Amino acid sequence: MTPTPSRRTVLQGLAAGSAVVAFDPVARSWAATADPGLPQVPPLDGTLRTDAASLAAAAEDYGHIVHRTPAAVLSPGSVDDVVKMIRFCNAHGIKVAPRGQGHGTYGQAQAAGGVIIETGPLNRIGTPEHGTVTVGAGALWIDVLRATLQHGLTPPVFTDYIELSVGGTLSVGGIGGQTHRHGAQVDNVLALDVVTGAGELVRCSPARHADLFHAVLAGLGQCAVIVSATIRLVPAPTAPTVRHYLLPYTDLAAFLADQRTLTRERRFDYVEGQVTADKNGAFTAYVLEAVAYDADVPEETLLAGLGYDPAGVQRTTPTYFDFVNRVGPVAEELKKSGVWAYAHPWLNLLIPGERTAEVAGEILAGVTAADVGAGLILLYPLERARLHAPLLPMPDDPVPYLFAILAATPSTDTATVDRLLAANRAAYERTAAAGGTQYPVGSIPFRPADWQEHFGAAWPQLVAAKHTYDPRGVLVPGQGIFG
Ligand SMILES: Cc1cc2nc3c(=O)[nH]c(=O)nc-3n(C[C@H](O)[C@H](O)[C@H](O)COP(=O)(O)OP(=O)(O)OC[C@H]3O[C@@H](n4cnc5c(N)ncnc54)[C@H](O)[C@@H]3O)c2cc1C
Repeated sequence: MTPTPSRRTVLQGLAAGSAVVAFDPVARSWAATADPGLPQVPPLDGTLRTDAASLAAAAEDYGHIVHRTPAAVLSPGSVDDVVKMIRFCNAHGIKVAPRGQGHGTYGQAQAAGGVIIETGPLNRIGTPEHGTVTVGAGALWIDVLRATLQHGLTPPVFTDYIELSVGGTLSVGGIGGQTHRHGAQVDNVLALDVVTGAGELVRCSPARHADLFHAVLAGLGQCAVIVSATIRLVPAPTAPTVRHYLLPYTDLAAFLADQRTLTRERRFDYVEGQVTADKNGAFTAYVLEAVAYDADVPEETLLAGLGYDPAGVQRTTPTYFDFVNRVGPVAEELKKSGVWAYAHPWLNLLIPGERTAEVAGEILAGVTAADVGAGLILLYPLERARLHAPLLPMPDDPVPYLFAILAATPSTDTATVDRLLAANRAAYERTAAAGGTQYPVGSIPFRPADWQEHFGAAWPQLVAAKHTYDPRGVLVPGQGIFG
């Protein structure tokens, strides 16, 4: 196959700004050229890399399932670099995707033959003012937490693992055990600075360019690249430690009912839960995880009336920071043991609360310990009234559940990965039939028509924003939303 002249010309120009090189898209190789007539990327503050190692790294993610090789990787030296690069891509119809930590699991931050913009260098964390802080999209939540704690403040909601980028979680939603009290991370954003798919730098908020603001939060990168976010802070816990409980159950209905009681009565600051395998390998054991931040409420009140097995209760008292960062040390161990580099064909579903016992129970009945491998299963309630982002669709139920089978299996075992992807699809269909949908951070084979169903009433709004702000459709092809 011979590349068309226009595509070849564009990619030649893309290669290295003033140091123009020619690109053969079939061989994916670059060669120096001195043709001054080619369109060139304007001078950049950062670097545009085209070496094989950079391209291979950008064709990977936490899933290790999908591999799409870009033509170049931008490490921006400034927000202006993001503007220049997206304008260039927009002008020449080149796909472009921002990449935070690359912890999507199904190629979400990849762009075959396009440009990847690493947001890591955009990691400035401002000084908190009036209960807010403005942070660069590439900042990690762990660093935002460290910085705000110095002022006695904290973001209200965290994902379980906090070495994720602010831009990466705000583009999906950001859900955790505090969501029943404070909504998702996207519900705690006051303003954004974004670069649209047309290359315009725009500050947006609920009062200013509101359509863009609402199209970017949980918008899966389709309309604009977030370069910074102003987020709401709350007072950090003042007690030296928090109270962390693991409460075991053997009955799914009792476990779900107690989770609902705790979230409805706001007894704890954080509520999640895990499904674990019993001694026969069946997923019929449950652990309710709950955390109280302040010391004033007695334990008898916190745990009153719950149906857990008192013999198996675990109590710990970590510092607030260590609690929020609890997965960090686990991740380090998984990196050492090699499990972090396994394939992660993750399934993340949102199920109507009323149907959770039935749907999750059915799906769990077909799951084996070998399927989950070195991973885990989460099941915990959210509160719909706290979730306002139009592009984070929730089941029509006051207490939807997040149900996540976070499988980890050697990436060389492609037969198992393929089987789990098919199982993910079947579980999604079962969930959709019950009025649920997916939480789009996992690995579910999805077609554009599925996305339309997923976004539901918000679909026309996303389509309109896409036409307005990314008119050539260059942004974030890895989500597969617009074909
Ligand atoms: C160990 C682990 C634990 C997790 N726990 C949770 C959890 O508890 N709760 C939860 O909600 N999620 C959780 N996630 C999922 C995680 O929130 C998402 O995968 C998130 O997108 C990862 O952030 P990232 O910086 O790696 O993003 P990337 O993988 O780099 O990007 C994800 C998507 O967002 C787009 N994107 C990235 N940056 C920007 C930007 N600045 N502007 C616009 N679009 C952008 C990318 O193009 C891509 O499509 C977890 C993931 C892992 C690996």
